Formats: sequence, structure tokens, C-alpha cells
Amino acid sequence: MAVKHVGEDAPAYGVIEQVSPLVRRVMAQNPSVFTYHGTGTFIVGPPSGGSVAIVDPGPDDDEHVAALLAAVKGQTVSHLLITHTHPDHSPAAAAVKKATGAPTWGYGPHPQAAIDAHQKRVARAIADGEKPEASDGEGAGDQDFVPDHLVTDGQIIAGPGYTFEALHTPGHISNHLCFAFQEEATLFSGDHVMGWSTTVIPAPDGDLNDYLANLRRLLTRSETLYRPTHGPAITEPVNYVADLIAHREGRSEQILAGLADGPRTIMSLVVEMYAHVDEKLHKPAAASVYAHLLALKKTSQVTADDPTDFETHWSLN
Ligand SMILES: [Zn+2]
Repeated sequence: MAVKHVGEDAPAYGVIEQVSPLVRRVMAQNPSVFTYHGTGTFIVGPPSGGSVAIVDPGPDDDEHVAALLAAVKGQTVSHLLITHTHPDHSPAAAAVKKATGAPTWGYGPHPQAAIDAHQKRVARAIADGEKPEASDGEGAGDQDFVPDHLVTDGQIIAGPGYTFEALHTPGHISNHLCFAFQEEATLFSGDHVMGWSTTVIPAPDGDLNDYLANLRRLLTRSETLYRPTHGPAITEPVNYVADLIAHREGRSEQILAGLADGPRTIMSLVVEMYAHVDEKLHKPAAASVYAHLLALKKTSQVTADDPTDFETHWSLN
């Protein structure tokens, strides 16, 4: 059931890495327990001259934006492709667009359900006497971002020498997109599939059933390499995705077993299930357990008096 994660050494920030003939990566210096070494922004197209697309410009960070603009000096930026509106992915699009004139492509603005859920988590943290920012690693979300082009599932987005198929992959967040880069059989997988860690599913906008459906969908695709926004490339992606699915199914089994002796709160389940991990990760783990409980509720396997109340007791149906 354990997923074999793959890490990498901390990269040099702001430096251009040529990771394949048509892909360069520039890392932003925003490391955290949620972003690993930081955001990896991808530049797709020839290494010099001509036209390029940028995937996930990254956080609102002047040094990162300057590094990106230096990397594409003398080139035309044709597209800014946004996987989703968390603060480590989309905010730099504004500055890069201003400097290059490139339009932004995304599924849609930051979802209202995610804003509401974030406010709830902050309120709970304050009530618990904790710092609000400790409540929620993904933060409030990039509420300023509005894509110039609304992308639909299956849409082809092309520039000179590069072709992307957009995949709408809700689960981590309802506006998540992956971009299949056809010339190199590569999937830019955003936060949907990451090698270094499993994906946080902040319910209710994050949806475990959607997430699993969008993992299963990848099993039949032909991309041979995934490039997540955080961490190294995934070289055997189909096997890895199958492991992720098995891992989540195992977690659901664990939760059902944990409820076998009677009703329990989310935190009571978390403390037991995540006894072996750093306590700092118990909050995001709680978000994951909550996502599982909501998914199990949808299939009528569990029930709760008030599923919107963090303190509520969950029981088997
Ligand atoms: Zn994210």
C-alpha cells in the first residue's frame, strides 16, 4: 500500500535547467512542507530564439519572475498555461503577462468553495489558538487570477513546435488542469500527480472521487513521462499512478476499519492512522481523512450528524 516516492536534491534557484530538448525548468525559492523544494516553472519550446509556452509561472516572487524573463530573453512567449490557482502556481502569471504580453490559459478562477473552506480552516485555527497560516498550506488561493482563455477538457493548445492537450483533472482543486505535451509524450501533471508526495485533497472543493476518477483516466494514456510542478520527473508514470490509486483505496479501508468499534472524530482517526509521521503533517492529513469520509459518505458507507462540522462523530452506515 505504501507509495514509493521519488525525491531530488534541492536545485539551484533561479537557474535554467535544460531537462529535455524542448523543456527547461526554473525553480522558485518557495520551499515548504507543501511545495517540497519549491515551484518548478517549465518553459516549453526551443532553448533560444522562436516561441515558447510557460507552464505554471509560479508564486508572486520578483526574483523568480526576473529569472523567468531572463530565461526567455529574445524569445516570444505565446502561452501562459496555468494548472490551477493555488498561490504557488498562478500568481506570477500577472507579472509575466505584463512583461511579455502572453495571454493566460486556465480552467477558471479560484473556486468559491475553496475560498469558503479556507476561511473555515482559518477560523478553526484561531479558535484552537494557532497561527492561521498553520491551518492550510495552500493558503487562500489566487483570487486575482482570471484566465484570458477558458480551457475545456480535451482542448488542443498549440504554438510553433509544441502541442498540448488539456485534461481537466479536478480532485486536488476543482479547476485543476494537466497538459499533455505531445512532441515529448510528457504530461505536465501540476499537483494532480507528484513524485515526492501524495496530493492533498482539501474537501469539499477538493474531491476524492474526482481525484480517483482522474487518476484512473491516466492509466490508459500514452505519456511516458510526467513533470509535476513540485519534485522530479516521474519515469514510470502508469505504475506510479496505479500505486497512488491502491494507496487511497487502502486508506479508505483503514478508515472503515477504524470506525468498526464505534463513532469517531476526524482527529481521533488521524492521530491513529498517522502516528508515524511528523505532527506538523496532522492538519493536512486531517484534510485527507475528511476527503475520504466525504467520498465514503457519497457511496453511503459512512454517516455523520453534521459532515460540515470538523468535530462531528463519523460512523459506519
Ligand atoms: Zn495546489
